[in-house]
Amino acid sequence: MGLLTAAVFRCIMFICPICRTQLNIQNKAYCCENNHSFDIAKQGYVNLLPVNKKHSDNPGDSKEMVIARRKFLESGNYDCFAEKLCEIISSVFANSQKLSIADCGCGEGYYDGKLKNINCDFDLYGFDISKEAVRYASGKYKKYHFAVGSCFQMPLKDNSFDLVLNIFAPMVESEMKRILKKDGIMIYAVPGKNHLMGLKNLLYENVYENAEKHTEYDGFEFVSKNSVKSEITLNGEMGVNLFKMTPYYFKTQLGAEEKIRQNNGFTTEIHFDFLVYKKI
Ligand SMILES: [Zn+2]
Repeated sequence: MGLLTAAVFRCIMFICPICRTQLNIQNKAYCCENNHSFDIAKQGYVNLLPVNKKHSDNPGDSKEMVIARRKFLESGNYDCFAEKLCEIISSVFANSQKLSIADCGCGEGYYDGKLKNINCDFDLYGFDISKEAVRYASGKYKKYHFAVGSCFQMPLKDNSFDLVLNIFAPMVESEMKRILKKDGIMIYAVPGKNHLMGLKNLLYENVYENAEKHTEYDGFEFVSKNSVKSEITLNGEMGVNLFKMTPYYFKTQLGAEEKIRQNNGFTTEIHFDFLVYKKI
């Protein structure tokens, strides 16, 4: 290794979780001007979780949940949502050259992988609090940049993104606003009224509709609401995979998983609302 190769810098959008300054790639690590250094894992991601968050052992979705979600999503059951997302992006950015996109709470990158269908060129930065999920994403989608990071203290630069995505992740509007450029677009996907009603009927005696989430956010102008509804029929094993992706997995008593697995197949409505906002 000569002197020349040791000094390779490449500008990126990640920031240091300790001092919040720009990170640069230096050999196999991301380094800031204050010499904080973060190793790049062999899959290509970097762990930028704020130090206080690292105390809990493995925050976010476990390996078991990541595998279940991957199997469910790869079966195509949610493809209608990915298609709608690409359609919205292609229409909002119809005349754009190259987009910078951040996926906040990217999980194992399913929606990021589908963005190859949008009609413009882009650079994508994704982060999630689950190391298992990020490890999978960066192993699979090599041309994107992935980090382990928190939605409450995003590891991304100010005023840097044309588009930020939040698909079922915690909404921290101040952080979404901070990383967006002026006039940038935020797409927030939330569960619609009857999302997973069939699954809920299997699990609970008294089932309620989801509350409609359509909130105004400070510093954002509401642009549009795009609903996607469909119905899917799942056998027991695929039903369990879906169950493990949902909050019900943590809230339901023992035996629920077996009950779904034993089921001969059930049908459930699926319904996402994509809320589009513009930073003003
Ligand atoms: Zn630093």
